[in-house]
Amino acid sequence: MANNLKIEIVTPDRKVLSEEVEYVGAPGIMGEFGVLPNHVPFLSALGIGNLHYKQDGKAHYVFIAGGFAEVSNNQVTILAEVAEKATEIDVDRAQKAKQRAEERTAKAKEKVDAARNQASLKRAIARINARSCGKNAGTC
Ligand code: ATP
Repeated sequence: MANNLKIEIVTPDRKVLSEEVEYVGAPGIMGEFGVLPNHVPFLSALGIGNLHYKQDGKAHYVFIAGGFAEVSNNQVTILAEVAEKATEIDVDRAQKAKQRAEERTAKAKEKVDAARNQASLKRAIARINARSCGKNAGTC
């Protein structure tokens, strides 16, 4: 299939990605949504998770945490608070962040900001998954 869709991912710090692709799947706050060429114009807030896109039949993964997605004229624009290509993710760091979040959950008697801790845990798990999906060539 031809790469008829353009995707751009930017964060406040940098341009993460600009590619011609076949398909984009993204973690909306209401659940995952998919975009093929000729999709109707669409706007969604983003949650924490992994965006994936298909290019020349191959799946690629990008970790996303918050922001907005806009779809218009065969262009998907992702304005993310945080975004990392799977290849940029430091899995050891994500494993340590996951461990810290799990330890905070276990210390339930202490003052823990549960929502903040859940978000940390979700970020760590999504980062670890982004790397393993990439390694397994798209079998997530
Ligand atoms: P940590 O507790 O390890 O800092 P975090 O989820 O709190 O993780 P964020 O606030 O999401 O970190 O990100 C802060 C900055 O660090 C961002 O620029 C993000 O891209 C980068 N970052 C965080 N974790 C990783 C990771 N495992 N690999 C690569 N970059 C990371």
